[in-house]
Amino acid sequence: MVNGLNRLIELGDDLHMTWQFSAPAGTEVVSLDEAGAAGLMVVKLRSTSPIDLACPHCGGPRTKNGTRIVRFRDIPTACGQAVVIDWLRQKFVCSLCHRSSHDQHAAFDRRRDMTVRFVEWVGKEAAERGFTAVAKQTSINPKVARRAFRETEKKLGADVGLLSDAIAIELIDLAGCKRPAIIDARGEFVFEVYVSSQDMQTRLPAFASDYLRQHEHPMVVADLSLFPGNEGTPRLLDEAFGPQVERLISRASLEREVVHRIWGLCEPLLDQKYPDRHTWRSVRAVFFRRRSSMKKIARRHLQVWEKMLQPELYAAYMLKEDFLDIWQGQAKSFSEDRFDAWIQRAVRHSNLRLDALVFMMLSHRRQILAFSRYDFLDGFYKRLSAITSLDKNRSARSFSAARAALLMRGLSKEREKLNELVGQFADELMATGKI
Ligand SMILES: [Zn+2]
Repeated sequence: MVNGLNRLIELGDDLHMTWQFSAPAGTEVVSLDEAGAAGLMVVKLRSTSPIDLACPHCGGPRTKNGTRIVRFRDIPTACGQAVVIDWLRQKFVCSLCHRSSHDQHAAFDRRRDMTVRFVEWVGKEAAERGFTAVAKQTSINPKVARRAFRETEKKLGADVGLLSDAIAIELIDLAGCKRPAIIDARGEFVFEVYVSSQDMQTRLPAFASDYLRQHEHPMVVADLSLFPGNEGTPRLLDEAFGPQVERLISRASLEREVVHRIWGLCEPLLDQKYPDRHTWRSVRAVFFRRRSSMKKIARRHLQVWEKMLQPELYAAYMLKEDFLDIWQGQAKSFSEDRFDAWIQRAVRHSNLRLDALVFMMLSHRRQILAFSRYDFLDGFYKRLSAITSLDKNRSARSFSAARAALLMRGLSKEREKLNELVGQFADELMATGKI
């Protein structure tokens, strides 16, 4: 019996590729007709799974009672030809209740005339190219494509067993908004994205309890703005993860918060001094730049601030730079001494009212310092924007399509790793002679 079929596909003059029909697990190919009616490729299959001889109605013994052919849509060929599977489905009749029943198989969707892998394929393709394109290519109803996508979407971000013991909860830019996302900090992939903080609020508790059940001593790195005590944010993480989980604050969000808050205090000062000026955009741009990466013109601005016009602004700029420098130097990681020295400088700062910022930093001191104990987190945050961003064409898509594309990327990466591990394990077993 043939289990697959190689076919040479002509793609233009000199480009050839081989496409192989692979039968779903637990089935075998009976026959294959490349040029079926209406340009379809028709593959006839039958199940190779062991037959369940218990009647689904009464549990009594059932016996074979002929077959019938049921047609299912399957993934198209490499060059886009539509494929249908004719499943030679076994029929049974019960010798106890005399009712008829038929064979079930995991490869075929129970409610639709589509293979399970076709439903998944539609979902994945819809995330990549949009529903309309997929519906057009497969000539299935766009509504059906959309439903298939929704189901695949639901399955995404569901298996917490895939996650490592270190996860990050960060606000990421997706489909035009900042959205809270759960990202595996060791595996460096996005596991879940919530449409809004409110959405996260309803769904995080279930995620957290599931995650905690499957992971020992997990670590949660979170965006500072998601911590309680910051302007009206819910006590979400405390409630979801409980006190036993090690909670850290990410350097990226800390830096963002400090830089924005100091600038936020500078602006009113500038407005007071120059009431006629309406925009501080160019000043802001200089303020946000690091001194070490400044070009000549920006440096000159800074000098002008320092020497003549804006001593307060210059002092604020230096306070910001000092904060970002806490991570520089020998140890290459966050220094407790440098952090405390910065707090002292901020407390003594004369022009700006930094009490709120200092208070916030002190209240999270333990969580901030804990972050620097884990080296891998530094590399993770360097790559964070690459991990969480899609290319520009995709960012214009709807939230759910963008989410699906991000999650699909993570899932396939994890599956690859898992397969590799299983392969390694098998090799080891072979080497030690256990199999
Ligand atoms: Zn029966």
